[in-house]
Amino acid sequence: MSRNNAPTFKFRSELVFNDIVTFCENAVLLKDFAPKEIAILFYHIEPSDIKIIYEMSNPVCECGSKLHKHDLINWNMDKKYPIFKYRYICPKCKKTIITPLEPIVKKGCNYTEDIRVMTMNLYSKEHISYANATKFLNEAYNLNLSRQSTYNFNDKESEKYISKKEEKIQEKLNEKNIESTGFPGHDESFLTINGKKYAFLAMIDSNNQSIINDQIIPENEYRDFLETFIIYSQKDLSPYKDPNTLNPRHPLLLIDLKKNTLIGDELKEYPIIAKKANMNFHPCGFHIIMNQRKPVWKTQKRLEQKKQRNQNRINKNKEKIHEYYEKYKGQSPNFKNKDSRRKQKDKVIKMEKENRTLQKENSKIQKEIDQYENYNERISEIFNQETFKNAKLRYNILKNQIKHLPDEIAKFITKLGKDLDNTLSHIENENIPKTNNWLEIFFKIVFPKKYRKRFKTTQGVKRFLRNGKIKWYENIVLKTEIIPDKNDAWSKLSQKYGKNKLMTKT
Ligand SMILES: [Zn+2]
Repeated sequence: MSRNNAPTFKFRSELVFNDIVTFCENAVLLKDFAPKEIAILFYHIEPSDIKIIYEMSNPVCECGSKLHKHDLINWNMDKKYPIFKYRYICPKCKKTIITPLEPIVKKGCNYTEDIRVMTMNLYSKEHISYANATKFLNEAYNLNLSRQSTYNFNDKESEKYISKKEEKIQEKLNEKNIESTGFPGHDESFLTINGKKYAFLAMIDSNNQSIINDQIIPENEYRDFLETFIIYSQKDLSPYKDPNTLNPRHPLLLIDLKKNTLIGDELKEYPIIAKKANMNFHPCGFHIIMNQRKPVWKTQKRLEQKKQRNQNRINKNKEKIHEYYEKYKGQSPNFKNKDSRRKQKDKVIKMEKENRTLQKENSKIQKEIDQYENYNERISEIFNQETFKNAKLRYNILKNQIKHLPDEIAKFITKLGKDLDNTLSHIENENIPKTNNWLEIFFKIVFPKKYRKRFKTTQGVKRFLRNGKIKWYENIVLKTEIIPDKNDAWSKLSQKYGKNKLMTKT
């Protein structure tokens, strides 16, 4: 081969590769910043008697002397790849050091960081059994992990991983000035931990959906705890979250967040608590409408059933009448069957009369059902008005007819009148939502039903919920995925060599 054919330029990757890899007799040497995938590549393509060895890119001792290669340490990377590391010795202070491979792997570990991160990542998105997670990892990475290792990775590392994400989220919230606007919605959902019932309380800002506070508490204590939870959640609790504040003041002495209106369902405690917290209370329109509809639906169902029973009777009569006329079709009455035929004829006349009455009754029932429907719509309309004046007008029309309204409707109209201003406060204040729907969505995203009976420990639920809340911020509040800064071998490599140029002339 002629040297004249040598290329006049080199690919950037060729330069990088020359930096990373040194080929010598019976060994391929890799610099300590070479990603593990490069080691795996050589493991697959080199004969088995060729050793793949990591060496230090800057072999200098703490004391400043240049280190000497001393011997080889066998490192079973991911308990699968026989990779070696050089052990160095300082000629001056006689200290020894094995090629450190951060960020590929933590000191003293077999399994590399990417495997650990993948495990935590998996659990940050889905709660699956450790057996299944282990299967998944083993198949994806062609490994031989034990369930215990998978458990350990998640258990020991996820705290750091989740905290990093939470810190990032806090940064973004500060950047975008997302804080309590004073219109929190509150609701609770229920779960079991190891068979014991708990309530999961949550408070979400109705305008920007940020999580103001949340807590798990035994189910039988939560109603008594509501007041404390709601009032303390309106305080700036950040000193409690800051590890640098050693003795934060009693929560009641902390400053208040912005507060204006509490939104909640029909728990009787809410208006009382709101008053104590110096807030208005806005009951969720959806719950109000549902509570209005339920008794009406029950009545409507009863009427439908009555109507159906009448209809069945009518059909049965019709059948018998038809039978009679079929039987004597074309026959004139004769002496022999005169009596029984007259008897039957009398019955038919009676049935025809009954049917007319039942038909009449059924149209009346249908009218009643339709009337209930009409009232339902008129009640919904009150809530859907664009101005409070119009809503009140529509309310008053119903109220003026109260003596003529069906019981269920009259009862509701009277009850609504007791707190009309608060109930309709969403109409002219765009900060107040018509319903507490965000809380429903919150529980759906952060704690889906299928998980609510799955947990054995409080610690497990709490970690799961932290991941759920991260999801909430990613999908709903910030609308961007939160990725903690990476410090893996590949990002270090691209930092070192950049990505802006493809080729370099030589
Ligand atoms: Zn030294």
